[in-house]
Amino acid sequence: MATTKKLCLFFPKSETEKPIIYHLVKDYNLIINIFRAKITPEEEGYLVIDVTGEEKDIERGMDFVRKNNVAINATHRGLQHDSEKCVHCGNCLSHCPTKALAVKDTKTRKVEFDEILCIECLACVKNCPFGACYSIF
Ligand code: SF4
Ligand code: SF4
Repeated sequence: MATTKKLCLFFPKSETEKPIIYHLVKDYNLIINIFRAKITPEEEGYLVIDVTGEEKDIERGMDFVRKNNVAINATHRGLQHDSEKCVHCGNCLSHCPTKALAVKDTKTRKVEFDEILCIECLACVKNCPFGACYSIF
């Protein structure tokens, strides 16, 4: 059964020109949805993606990625929400197109971040007056 994983890949300076995504699609039968990328030749690079495929193909594909010295962060993507800095002002809510930032408990009125729903549009980064939303690249 196909599954989807959200990952942030970090390319060190020496690996930015390798056709990693091409091989993931062609050799491992994976569907790649790129949310955001910053890869400049001769510099470090970041790629935030959804990977869809059979679990075993994803594991094999990720082994291939690691063997090419590309680091995988499966727990955090490019957009970060710092709950320590968030004052729950709600300014970001109307700017978030997917409701990744939302008030779920109407009693506490706390703004919660759901990483799964985030599409990395960065609208919250521009609209958070307290720097609670930021990008790692
Ligand atoms: S705008 Fe910033 S401080 Fe205000 S609720 Fe959103 S993330 Fe929190
Ligand atoms: S990056 Fe976009 S989708 Fe993600 S939390 Fe911020 S506003 Fe919402």
